[in-house]
Order: sequence, then structure tokens, then C-alpha cells
Amino acid sequence: MHKVIIIGSGCAGLTAAIYTARADLQPLVLDGYEPGGQLALTTEVENFPGFPEGILGPELIERTRKQAERFGARFRSGSVTSVDLSQRPFKITVAKETYEAETLIVAAGASARMLGIESERHLLGFGVSTCATCDGAFFRNREIVVVGGGDTAMEEATFLTKFAKRVTLLHRRNEFRASKIMLDRARANEKIVFMTPYVIEEVHNVANKAVDSVIVRNSETAELKTIPTAGVFVAIGHDPNTKVFKGQLNMDENGYILTHDGPKTNVAGVFAAGDVQDHHYRQAVTAAGSGCMAAIDAERFLEAQKG
Ligand code: NDP
Repeated sequence: MHKVIIIGSGCAGLTAAIYTARADLQPLVLDGYEPGGQLALTTEVENFPGFPEGILGPELIERTRKQAERFGARFRSGSVTSVDLSQRPFKITVAKETYEAETLIVAAGASARMLGIESERHLLGFGVSTCATCDGAFFRNREIVVVGGGDTAMEEATFLTKFAKRVTLLHRRNEFRASKIMLDRARANEKIVFMTPYVIEEVHNVANKAVDSVIVRNSETAELKTIPTAGVFVAIGHDPNTKVFKGQLNMDENGYILTHDGPKTNVAGVFAAGDVQDHHYRQAVTAAGSGCMAAIDAERFLEAQKG
């Protein structure tokens, strides 16, 4: 029986681990299928407070993990396959093993949807990004391609014009899913060039570990074009990792866990932190902050149970 189990080892989960470990609750962290979360997939992080020269995402995660371990947090690798939150202790199953917990902190994150091309995977963090706020500043006076036709793509393209010389917005259809106001704002921006209906065939240059161009295909005529670019921002949405909680934790229509009074969910003793409950800010520092809140509330919940 564990006092606290934390699902997820990104910024939110690891911060919750530091706080619960320091409170002597010996948390067990279940790593998930993307250990380290989104930070593990990025390179330079310049906006996390306390690192004036910046820090590499994987290094920041490694250091945070060590910090949690130093206070007694334990880690198990593997993804959660099912949970039973109908009564306490909660049951959390990872493959063939079932753990029991008095409190649960869900920090399973949200995964950025990717195009699924091999070259995109190789260049993620080396010119391919899923976060304009995180990486936009690396592209001052450069050409950038943004992929997507929803509000995120419009928002990211507009934001990126602060830095980029030109932003090419590439979308697979001629119609946009984005709201009119966001679309109009992007259309009115002189630095944004719309290119539809196009999909990316290939991102170059894997051999140089840097992006220098993309090959795009017109989805109606199959015509191929090469666009020189220094960066590709994939803005085709995120999927919260909440499948195993369906029917047990309240969620919005996109699958994000609904919280109230900070990190509380509809199940007493279950808390949610980080991107799994936040599709708005999605920053390492906001995830860390909400992990801290979940840890403090889990500790208070356990105290209250003692009577
Ligand atoms: P959406 O699901 O709304 O849009 C995703 C876009 O990516 C669609 O245009 C889709 O194309 C395209 N797409 C999906 N998969 C692929 C693929 N494999 N290859 C190429 N293109 C692809 O996601 P968003 O992240 O944009 O928005 C999510 C939610 O968040 C929405 O409700 C949105 O309104 C909200 N939001 C609000 C903001 C605001 O108000 N400030 C800012 C950002 C998001 P297609 O249309 O053809 O399916």
C-alpha cells in the first residue's frame, strides 16, 4: 500500500514527487510511456526560472528526477493499463502488476500529435518543434513553417511572426477548423503566407541534424514543392493521456481532466496536475507549479484521513 502514487514523470509528476517525498510520503512514480514528458523531447529550455544560460530539456528532467530521488521517491517504468478509482485504496495496474494507493496524482501529460514522418521524428528538438512559446525565440529573422488548420496553428503562426522573417502556414485542406477571429487575425498578418492544400512529405536535413527545407505535396494535384525553412512547428493538436481514466474521472469533450479548487478531481483523493488537465498554458513551469499544488493537497488529504 502506497500513500501516494504519481502517474507520469514529466515536470508535473516530478515536482509532485519532490514535494511528497520531502513530506515523507515515499511516493511511487509510474514513469509512463514517454518518461520525462514533453521536456524529454525538446532541446534548449530558456524560460524555466533559475537557469539564466538555459538548460537542455532532458537535463532539466534528469536533475528534477535526481532531486525527487534524493528525498526518497521511487520510480517504476511502464504505462498504466487500468485503474480502479471506485473505492480507496485506489488500484493502479501496470501490465501484470497492481499497486494500491491512498492518494493518486495523475500527471500523465498530453502528447503532441505528430505528422508521423520518419524525418520529423529524427529532427524533433533540432528544428522540428511542437511548442512555439518554447522554441520561437530560436528562429529570429528565419523562415518558419507551421503545420495545422486549427486555433493552435493560427495562434502559433501569429506568435511566431514576432521572431520569424516569414511564416508559411501549411494546411492539408482549403477549409480551416480555426475560429473566424483567429483565422482573420492570421490572414491579416503580412508575415504569414497561407499554403493550402498541402501536406509535408519530408523534412530535410536529417544528416545535418538541422532543418533546412521541407518537401510538400499538394493534396489535390500531387505536385511537389520544396520550401526552404529553418524550423517546422507541428501544431495539429494534442491528445491528453487519459484513456485509462475514462468513466472514472470527469473530463471535458477533448479528454482533459476537469479539476476544481486547484488540482482536485471528482474523486476525493485523486488529484490531477500538468498538461493532463491544462490545454491552455502547457509550460514546464506551470506544470511544475500544479504538481506542487497536487502534492500539497494530497498531503493534506492524508492528514485529514487520520482525523
Ligand atoms: P484541432 O483539433 O482544432 O485542429 C487540428 C488541426 O490540425 C486541424 O486543422 C487538422 O486538419 C490538422 N491536422 C490534424 N492531424 C493532421 C495531420 N496528421 N496532418 C496534417 N494536419 C493535421 O486542434 P487545436 O490544437 O488547433 O485546437 C484544440 C482545441 O483548443 C480547439 O477546441 C481550439 O479551439 C482550442 N484552442 C483555442 C485557442 C484560443 O482560443 N486562444 C488557442 C488554441 C487552441 P483538419 O481540419 O483537416 O482535420
